[in-house]
Amino acid sequence: MAVRQILVIGDERLRQKAKRITRFDESLKTLIDDMLETMHEANGLGLAATQVGVPLRVAVIETPEERDENGTITRPKKTYILCNPEIIKRSGEEIMEEGCLSVPGYAGRVLRATDVLVKARNAQGREVRYRGSGLLAQAFQHELDHLDGVLYVDHIQNPEDLWQLSREEEPEEEFEEEQEM
Ligand SMILES: [Zn+2]
Repeated sequence: MAVRQILVIGDERLRQKAKRITRFDESLKTLIDDMLETMHEANGLGLAATQVGVPLRVAVIETPEERDENGTITRPKKTYILCNPEIIKRSGEEIMEEGCLSVPGYAGRVLRATDVLVKARNAQGREVRYRGSGLLAQAFQHELDHLDGVLYVDHIQNPEDLWQLSREEEPEEEFEEEQEM
């Protein structure tokens, strides 16, 4: 496994339309392992292959575990491996705050569907379906956009919906919770 370099906005490779995966082989597994490691290292919630300069339709998402007030885990962390993903159903609309590992230092407000149903293949090529709402639905939409060369900032029309984060003003513990895709 290896941590790969995450491309940042301005790099033309982020704008390519990724190609469908046709072979679910060892090199795909290596790519997925590297993407997971890269995402963990960057403290991210999701990562698309496009962001590490590989124009293939694969994305990874990991939702954090949730705990109740006693510290008991109410939902374990979950990892999603999405090869050739497609959103086959979407419903609701919600304005959500969003950040991206490829747009460091910024956050914005984007209109997203509240619930989505995603059809994809896993690393072995088997068909999987995932339903997501809220943060997970947002992550699905964000990562699938990357595979078409779209960044969340492309959805923003008003300049006031995009702002710069000032790291110094944020307390340490909040920094831990901040996750980007
Ligand atoms: Zn992103």
